[in-house]
Amino acid sequence: MAIKMFAEILKYPYVIVYDNATGNKLHKTNCSYITKKNFDLKVIINQEKNGYYDPLEHLEALNDPSVKPCKVCKPNLG
Ligand SMILES: [Zn+2]
Repeated sequence: MAIKMFAEILKYPYVIVYDNATGNKLHKTNCSYITKKNFDLKVIINQEKNGYYDPLEHLEALNDPSVKPCKVCKPNLG
């Protein structure tokens, strides 16, 4: 489920940023990379051509080996 509103993302503890240029990354939503500016660029301005945001309630629900943990916020993957 791709999200169109940045405020919705912040209701979740984690978010996956899918990006077909730089790779898919799991972040904590309080990561310095998770900003409205970055979100608007990818989702609104680029209209999700390069990727999208998918919020995550529980890490256990993540079942996608293409998703790597962010090296900045270091979410605890498995
Ligand atoms: Zn991060």
